Amino acid sequence: ELRPWQSRLREQFPIIAGDPDLAYLDSAATAQKPRAVLDAVTDYLTTENANAGRGTYPWANRTTALIEQAQQRVRRFLGDPEPDRSGVHFVSGTTEGLRLVARDWLVRHLRDGDEIILPVADHSANTLPWREAADQLAREGVTVGVRPMPYDAARDYDHRALTAMVNERTRFIATTHVHHVYGGDMNIGRIRAAAGPDAVICLDAAQGVGHLPLSVAELDVDFVVFSGHKAMALPGTGAIWSRNRRGSRFAPGGWAGTPNTSGIVSLAAALDWLEEAGVEWIARWTVALGARLTDGLRKLPAYEVLGCQRSLAADSPVQQRHGIVTFRHRRIGSNDLGFILAAEGFMVRADGHCQAEGGETTSSVRVSVHAYNTVDEVDRLLEALARLDTEG
Ligand code: PMP
Repeated sequence: ELRPWQSRLREQFPIIAGDPDLAYLDSAATAQKPRAVLDAVTDYLTTENANAGRGTYPWANRTTALIEQAQQRVRRFLGDPEPDRSGVHFVSGTTEGLRLVARDWLVRHLRDGDEIILPVADHSANTLPWREAADQLAREGVTVGVRPMPYDAARDYDHRALTAMVNERTRFIATTHVHHVYGGDMNIGRIRAAAGPDAVICLDAAQGVGHLPLSVAELDVDFVVFSGHKAMALPGTGAIWSRNRRGSRFAPGGWAGTPNTSGIVSLAAALDWLEEAGVEWIARWTVALGARLTDGLRKLPAYEVLGCQRSLAADSPVQQRHGIVTFRHRRIGSNDLGFILAAEGFMVRADGHCQAEGGETTSSVRVSVHAYNTVDEVDRLLEALARLDTEG
């Protein structure tokens, strides 16, 4: 159900426009940029580039205003109902953002005997900082219990086991929004229900922002951290949104220096673009492409689909699979498969996927789609994979 302008959507992305044979299928690593974002950056740099917050002249004041507007843009995009009670801090990406939450919030707020719950099968950006925070506190004589989020790759988080694990000492839960390998929506509403009203929840939304609607009003989380570059903004951008509740006022220390002004401009422009395109539409479109790929792969005996994509029925009403599908060939190594596909114009992620601890995905191929991908790309990829299914 493409709207008329959406069939021309690919043309808005200069890097892939005009070359229908190139299939960029690695948007979970980084997304391509629409012309509107590139234009916003060029406009800013060619008309009013200055440093923020320290000028008496119009360009500097304008730059300060653009950054404040971008903070409001992030709040609006996240459906923040109380913009006066939240903070937005721009960072270089999710990795830096989560690290800052650990360093400048978590270590200051945990007390002896507190417990935290970690998503062990997640991206290492969302496990290592919390472990390091607990280790640092241990060295200072503060003992914090670190519990792994009960995880079953085939079914996502086990919310019932999570409910049993939460107790009055549970202070902090780190979770992801959409899993970067399995594509599963972690169902934050159920995590909040399991967590009870008092635990602080930090959401790694690196794969969520721009891919599916995300409303902090509904989710009742305390931190949302995401990368701008995965949401069609420039590399080196990202944000920490934090709500000043549950004692969670977040004031990162050492905040000084020149902000990434053109990157922040690109982030605001990217959020404009995504909203205009319609995040709900993007979710439906990318879920449909992911489902098409999964269903096609299931018919090819040489391939094994990993994670929750494996077990959910194609017509599942649960919006649980997003546009990320990870699989492996039973005989061809994933790295080799990546090279074979690259030679045919398919850009996919091959091999490991930055999971420090849990996960079953060492050596696999990940295909991830965004608004600009097409049914034709998925079908051509399936044809290429099918050739290896019979030859292999
Ligand atoms: N968390 C998740 C779920 C991710 O997918 C990624 C990027 N692959 C990161 C964190 C890290 O993001 P960045 O590299 O932009 O810091």
